[in-house]
Amino acid sequence: MARIDAVLRDARAGLEPGDAEVLLAHVLDRPRSWLYAHGDDDLDADATVRFADLLARRRAGEPVAYLTGRRGFWRFDLQVGPATLIPRPETELLVELALARLPADQPQQVADLGTGSGAIALALAHERPRADVLATDASADALGVAAANARALALANVRFLRGDWFAPLASETFDLIASNPPYIADGDAHLGEGDLRYEPRGALASGIDGLDAIRRIVADAPRHLVPGGWLLLEHGRDQGDAVRGLLAAAGLVEVETVRDLEQRDRISLGRRPFAGD
Ligand code: GLN
Repeated sequence: MARIDAVLRDARAGLEPGDAEVLLAHVLDRPRSWLYAHGDDDLDADATVRFADLLARRRAGEPVAYLTGRRGFWRFDLQVGPATLIPRPETELLVELALARLPADQPQQVADLGTGSGAIALALAHERPRADVLATDASADALGVAAANARALALANVRFLRGDWFAPLASETFDLIASNPPYIADGDAHLGEGDLRYEPRGALASGIDGLDAIRRIVADAPRHLVPGGWLLLEHGRDQGDAVRGLLAAAGLVEVETVRDLEQRDRISLGRRPFAGD
């Protein structure tokens, strides 16, 4: 048997900072802080074997979030899995921009298209208890994960429907529609690197310029928005001009692109005009 501090020291080589700690904390079902307070405890044989397995898989490239089945997003520790994109911190900017357009004191109809693990829908439903959030995804497996997350968070104001983008939403209209669709170009070399190799291709890549899903969503959005209703889309750092162009061409106004914390174009948005606009 070896001490936890020694096991961690040996495990860190060749991994990203923190990976070894996250994986060992997962094996032991303890918070990371517990590891530091128990560095001189011995790791038992069962935990040693399970940790070695996870380390080997991590070294072979599997994302930490798929190895633990969890990823932090907004205020939540979400369940994630290979059927869902791993939520990214920059998507929290989309949540913030949406919340700024959803008054807390009014009932609102909200849609999240391509919800994956449910990250955006769950954050909006949690922060706006009076809102009614409908989330769609083409993947039944992803919707299973999203629904499990909604149950774990005891959120009753979010519903999940299976289908592409607006397909399951018939003629319903919304005060706000949000989406983090796939937006990487099919030929982009990043798809063959890092965590992206393990994530669902359909949640990442979308046509020759990465804009196929965004074009479909923008084209259908106006008839699903109430007058004054907002559409917010996450996209790639080099797609701001193109997405603003699509939003304007669809007749949306107050179109703008917002940069993420790393100063990359990340979210573009616009609203359907009121009759008198
Ligand atoms: N932001 C992700 C990445 O570039 C892509 C997610 C997406 O396509 N929606 O890794």
